[in-house]
Amino acid sequence: MVQVRMEASILGANDLLARKNRGIFARQGTLVVNLMSSPGSGKTTVLERSIDYLHDRLRLGVIEGDLYTDQDARRIEKKGVPVKQINTEGACHLDAKMVGEAFESIGEKLDLLFIENVGNLVCPAEFDLGEDFKAVVMSTTEGNDKPSKYPLVFREARVVLLNKIDLLPFTDFSVEQFREDVAKINPHAPVFMVSGRTGEGFEAWIEWLLEEVRKKRAEA
Ligand code: MG
Ligand code: ZN
Repeated sequence: MVQVRMEASILGANDLLARKNRGIFARQGTLVVNLMSSPGSGKTTVLERSIDYLHDRLRLGVIEGDLYTDQDARRIEKKGVPVKQINTEGACHLDAKMVGEAFESIGEKLDLLFIENVGNLVCPAEFDLGEDFKAVVMSTTEGNDKPSKYPLVFREARVVLLNKIDLLPFTDFSVEQFREDVAKINPHAPVFMVSGRTGEGFEAWIEWLLEEVRKKRAEA
């Protein structure tokens, strides 16, 4: 009981800071995408590939969440995009306070900010960071059971990316089953099939993302 109450108040405090972040992002017209996945889904590779498509057209920034290392942030830095690392020191999700401070320290006007959350399909889904939407990345090597085992993350996501489609011939993964399972949980979420490694499928995802950036700008 005590624990339930404590969790409720942590989430309440987080929601206030998330609202503050959302106000800041809105005033600057920055579209903010919170990327969530389990470890090993290829989230950073998808991000790198997306940056390749976008960095000539938009002012991009990245916040990298990781338990202890800055390996992913260094990969992003090589792309010439402003990046801020958050090490959660064991905490399994990012919260709104961490993101607010990281955004402030980037200190640039951005069209699009990616937040790479800690690899975990459970609690990142519960923490509002002030983002415009959550995107879930799943890979074909993870098997078909992820949507049914982690429905919250799929329900909370505005968009779903199925990564590593180049590996489909080597897995038992059923795309049809996956689409059906996602549609049951979140009927409105588009599903983009991509390969971060080969670049297959990125045009459609990038077009969709650019449309979201345009909408956000029109609102600002
Ligand atoms: Mg990563
Ligand atoms: Zn957590």
